[in-house]
Amino acid sequence: MTAAIIDGKRFAEEIKDEVRETGRRLREERGVTPGLAFILVGEDPASQVYVRSKGKACEQLGFHSVTEHLPATVTEEDVLALISRFNADVKIHGILVQLPLPKHISEQKVIESIDYRKDVDGFHPMNVGRLVIGLECLRPCTPAGVQELLVRSGNDPSGKHVVVVGRSNIVGKPVLNILLQKQLGANAVVTIAHTGARDLSPYVKSADIVVAAVGKPAAITGAMLKPGAVVIDVGINRVPDGSNPKGYRLVGDVDFPSAAEVASAITPVPGGVGPMTIAMLMKNTAAAAERLTAGR
Ligand code: NAP
Repeated sequence: MTAAIIDGKRFAEEIKDEVRETGRRLREERGVTPGLAFILVGEDPASQVYVRSKGKACEQLGFHSVTEHLPATVTEEDVLALISRFNADVKIHGILVQLPLPKHISEQKVIESIDYRKDVDGFHPMNVGRLVIGLECLRPCTPAGVQELLVRSGNDPSGKHVVVVGRSNIVGKPVLNILLQKQLGANAVVTIAHTGARDLSPYVKSADIVVAAVGKPAAITGAMLKPGAVVIDVGINRVPDGSNPKGYRLVGDVDFPSAAEVASAITPVPGGVGPMTIAMLMKNTAAAAERLTAGR
């Protein structure tokens, strides 16, 4: 292997230390403790794990958090009523509705009902629009984590050709919108590839930086990369593994062994982008608390 490992756990801890400091300052100067409300609907085990680990991060940083766990049969009206309660709650600065929601509840309606200043997931159309036109906003956590990984690992995207594979609203598109801004830590030439591309290879081959957000194991291999490229693997996929007590292991969207032979730097899965997502959620919550209580 020749590539340097971009250690997401280390950078996530670095960010959490900075956010802890922001929290301390807000408490001292304004008497404000950043507060985050989680809304979890139904019994999806993965969603429960995510909400628990986000709650644990709040504890670690001394943030206030509340979790409302609602049954899968809850009505859309009741979810909207709960959001409107949190919108009005001065102790709550961030609201996170864990997705996916049961089919009878409109995710879009739910997202749009959150006060955009408390939308720490960065999915509200107001935040999406502000991101696109380069205004201050709450940015989606995983894409913002991708940018932090690049900058903190010494791979500033400015002036580089970044190829993002995947165009979802939660990863691919916001990575594009963050990295193309004429701002520090961005200013990249960005291409986005998706299933409309007949062949991914020529796009990926031209990239100085590849961001893989495909949702398919080994969608990107070493042979597709330009030598020396930097690879950020957002993917989290379960593949069967008899040697693992769980019966599966986690892999990204990039074939790590072959890519690590060609890339200059690469994120591992797990331990790359994953830990950054929670760190950026905490950062967004502190930023929301800071803005909502400005002038106090
Ligand atoms: P998604 O909504 O399924 O989107 C996948 C994108 O990849 C789509 O735009 C799709 O194209 C494109 N795609 C799929 N197969 C392709 C192929 N063969 N060639 C080219 N493009 C292809 O997934 P997502 O929500 O963006 O998530 C992507 C991955 O990141 C998943 O593995 C997910 O688990 C992981 N993830 C990780 C984190 C984290 O915290 N680390 C957070 C979120 C997601 P079309 O648009 O044409 O269908």
